[in-house]
Amino acid sequence: MTETLAGRPAAQASSQPHPHPHPHPHPKQHPQRVAIIDLDAISQNVATLRSVARSGELMTVVKADGYAHGLVPVAQAALAGGATRLGTAVLEEAFALRDAGVTAPIFSWLASPGTDYAAAIKRDIELAAYGTDQLAEIVQAAEAAGSPAVVHLKADTGMWRGGAAPADWPELVAAARRAEADGLIRVVGLWSHLACADEPGHPSLAAQLRVFEEASDLARAAGLRPTLRHIANSAATLSLPESHFDMVRPGIATYGINPIPVEHRTGMPRLRPAMTLAGAIVQTKRAPAGSGVSYGHTEILPQETTLAVVPLGYADGVFRSASGIGQVQVGGGRYRVTGRVCMDQFIIDVGDDAVAAGDRVVLFGPGDDGEPSADDWADAAGTIPYEVLTRIAARVPRVYRGSGT
Ligand SMILES: *Cc1c(COP(=O)(O)O)cnc(C)c1O
Repeated sequence: MTETLAGRPAAQASSQPHPHPHPHPHPKQHPQRVAIIDLDAISQNVATLRSVARSGELMTVVKADGYAHGLVPVAQAALAGGATRLGTAVLEEAFALRDAGVTAPIFSWLASPGTDYAAAIKRDIELAAYGTDQLAEIVQAAEAAGSPAVVHLKADTGMWRGGAAPADWPELVAAARRAEADGLIRVVGLWSHLACADEPGHPSLAAQLRVFEEASDLARAAGLRPTLRHIANSAATLSLPESHFDMVRPGIATYGINPIPVEHRTGMPRLRPAMTLAGAIVQTKRAPAGSGVSYGHTEILPQETTLAVVPLGYADGVFRSASGIGQVQVGGGRYRVTGRVCMDQFIIDVGDDAVAAGDRVVLFGPGDDGEPSADDWADAAGTIPYEVLTRIAARVPRVYRGSGT
């Protein structure tokens, strides 16, 4: 149904002569909901990150299903753009890459006791060791697997998340050296993570780098010769060259989001957002002044208007906290979410504009046509673009554009 419910004079002719039920048939049908992924943007962003990195290597972080862009297509596009390695949080994602035939080095860094490290070693996945207990499990698995584990030792340099705190570092390094001498592991990496890289000039940055250097010196003194020291996420890759060491480890920038606040971005290369989240208007109708819209009637229409139903909701990843605030684009116009975001849909007030069922609605994209960005939705929802992207649910079909080369 298009405008026949809109209550406009042209649409009210119930005895319309056309045999076709739609007064304005849509020659191009838009998908009900879709996340369009620009693989060329991903390759290009990786190439851009390589060009700013002082390090010889770049690990593209493809965790969380490639920040919800699709694990395998992202991995391939990143490698085509010059990534030398791939990183995942959990082993399942690393295995999925191997299942898809990805042969590049893969590092996986988040595992709890009892993890099947032997399976990881057999599939050539590089592992993180946060402490001596975990290292002991990895060593045992290497014995069982019959081949050495490739390990990156994690130093906690001041974020107080995972890794060995400075007091525990000498013991971890010593244990790693013994296991290496026994031929059960190869320590190829030393790594850490920055707490405040998206706040250029934050005093913790220099402090963390200092602790990292000390950890690195201690490892060397203990006889380890790791060739991959890495600590830089996207923000540090873009703004803190002294953190690049042997490898950078960007995630979000790969997908075209710059995590550095706008006022600190001077001189930084432009990144291209890779995801466009779009759909097709389900229905439009005219509503009189005083109508309460969506659950809870949190908004009452001040005047007669046309309402349009957008078929994406919080189960698709549209933040309920963006109710009444988030904006979408239809045609050339920008419209605000009216009332609450529901599980599968929300409503926009399009005034007297000629919006019709079937019209394409864009929630966010790269901004080529003035559409909102994932950053805008993050602001509207009171969160960060990382969460906006990674919440896009599995039921939103991914459609790939470009070759990622
Ligand atoms: C997610 C993650 C990254 C990438 O961070 P971005 O801010 O997305 O660049 C790098 N390293 C580790 C350990 C991570 O968990």
